[in-house]
Order: sequence, then structure tokens, then C-alpha cells
Amino acid sequence: MTGAVVLAIDVGGTSFKGAVIDDAGRTLIADSAATGGAQGEEAFAVLERFVAGMIAQASAKNLTVAACGLIAPGMDERSGHVMFSSNLGWRDFPLVPRLIATLGLGIVAGHDVRTAGLAEAQLGAAKGFADSAMAMIGTGIAASLVSGGQAVAGAAQMACELGHIPVYPGGEACACGQFGCLEAYASASSIARRYHAAGGSALTAAEIAGRLAHDPLAARIWDEAVQALSISLATVTLLLDPAVIVIGGGLAEANEVLLAPLRVALRQRLAWRAPPPIVKSVLGSRGALLGAAILAFRSLGSGDAAAGWQAGA
Ligand SMILES: [Zn+2]
Repeated sequence: MTGAVVLAIDVGGTSFKGAVIDDAGRTLIADSAATGGAQGEEAFAVLERFVAGMIAQASAKNLTVAACGLIAPGMDERSGHVMFSSNLGWRDFPLVPRLIATLGLGIVAGHDVRTAGLAEAQLGAAKGFADSAMAMIGTGIAASLVSGGQAVAGAAQMACELGHIPVYPGGEACACGQFGCLEAYASASSIARRYHAAGGSALTAAEIAGRLAHDPLAARIWDEAVQALSISLATVTLLLDPAVIVIGGGLAEANEVLLAPLRVALRQRLAWRAPPPIVKSVLGSRGALLGAAILAFRSLGSGDAAAGWQAGA
């Protein structure tokens, strides 16, 4: 496989990111494109041009793209259909089959959070563990669970929706239609919303995290988020027995302001067993594209493609 490169594509709600990655895990070309609010067929056309442009950039450098790993939220990894994206206006949209048809390139589909978790397990904070959990906390909350070395996908590809497991049944309304979901208390957007609703200024979660020492309201809202997270992570611990829990997403940038109280709260909720260590993601926002590249190399038969990759490459 020496010299092979793959294309990794991350289909986000407001932008598309791409990287050409070689078999040593090095990013040779990186690019991105805003969707500009495009929806439906228009969004597909923007993505199609972006992917074709990345392949052209590789060709211009005498690199041949052997396969593509493409990830999106709500991706059914078996069919390559995006089940639902409100931002892109897609519902059961045959994204990967259509791209394969128009681009003539082998494309393997990945669920965004599960794929980021795969990268974290292969070369990041969960490397070397057959059982691990990663919680991605940003605008929403989702998880990636690895059990016995395998990512847990579920019968309908809908496993690991950690953010929508109720922590306070009948509690605050969640965007999903349920009440009391973890996401309603502990996502970055919910922390900002709850702080504002309780009389605070319109601040981001990161700004609120910087006010804990002198702003009692900020401290209370932050603690409520930490407590809600600890309830969910206690459930994950008791169900899965992970060797490590990795925290990723935008809220992980709060570092020990989040992780230190979260460790204490989790320990308090686990009376009869030791909690697993809680650590920050090593790969951060690069994890998704690296995971997509791993999927692409696997599709070429390079099952252990990432074995020698370095997290910092
Ligand atoms: Zn929910």
C-alpha cells in the first residue's frame, strides 16, 4: 500500500471539510467549503463539487486517491444514506450511493461521532483499550462506545445517543421532543441557554466556564451540567465497564474546569466500584477526518493502516 492516499470528507451541517491523507497518517492536503445554507439537491451539488475539487487537487500533486471515507451525522453506515439532517434538508438521502455513481470512486460511509471515536481508540486517548467510551459535547451530545474492540452501532445504527437519555425524567424540554435529556442540561448550547434563562447575560459556555470563581449563577449552571453528565457517565460505566472515558467536542476545551469536578461527581455516584479515568480527547476536531481516513484504508484491505500513525502527525 506504500504511496496510497485516501480522501477523508466530513459533511457537517454548515461546512464540508476534506483531507487527503497518506498511509502514514499525514495530512497532505486540507480544504473546506461553507454550505452557504444550501439544502436538499443544492447542498448535494455543493458537496459534489467540493469532493471533485479535492480529487483534482490531489491529481495536481500526482497523488492518486484510492478510496474515500465520508462521514456525516445521522449516517447509516450500511446503506450510506443520511437518515436526517435538518441543516442540509436531507431525510433518508442516498448520499454515498449517489456520490459513488457520479464520481466513480470507492466511498465508505461513516457515522460522524462513531468514526471520531474509532480514531480516538486507534491512535488517541483510548488507544490500547478494547473497551472505551467517548462523549462528544458540543452543540449537542453524542457518544461513541467501543466494546470488545468493536464500535457499538446498534440494530438500526442508532446506538449511543447519550444526549437523549433522560437524566431527570419529566425535566426540561429537549429539542428532540423528550423531557429531561442530558443534552438539555449539559451541551454547550444548553449551558448558555440555561444561564441566560436564569437571568445571566447572553454568553457562550466557554465564557461561562471562565466566570465560575466570581459568578454564583455561572457556578450553579456549570455544576448542574457536571451533575447531569456524571449521572449519564455512571450509567455508561455500569453498562459498559469502559477502561477510559474520553471527553471530546467544544466543551472539552474547558479542560480541568470540566474534567476535575466531573471526576469527583462520577466517583460519588459509583458507590461500590472505582470510576474509570476521565480524560480529554487527544485528537480533538481532527479525529473525525482521521477516522474517515482509517475507514477508507480499511476498505482497501489495510485493516491495520493506522497502527503506526502518530496522533500529532
Ligand atoms: Zn433529547
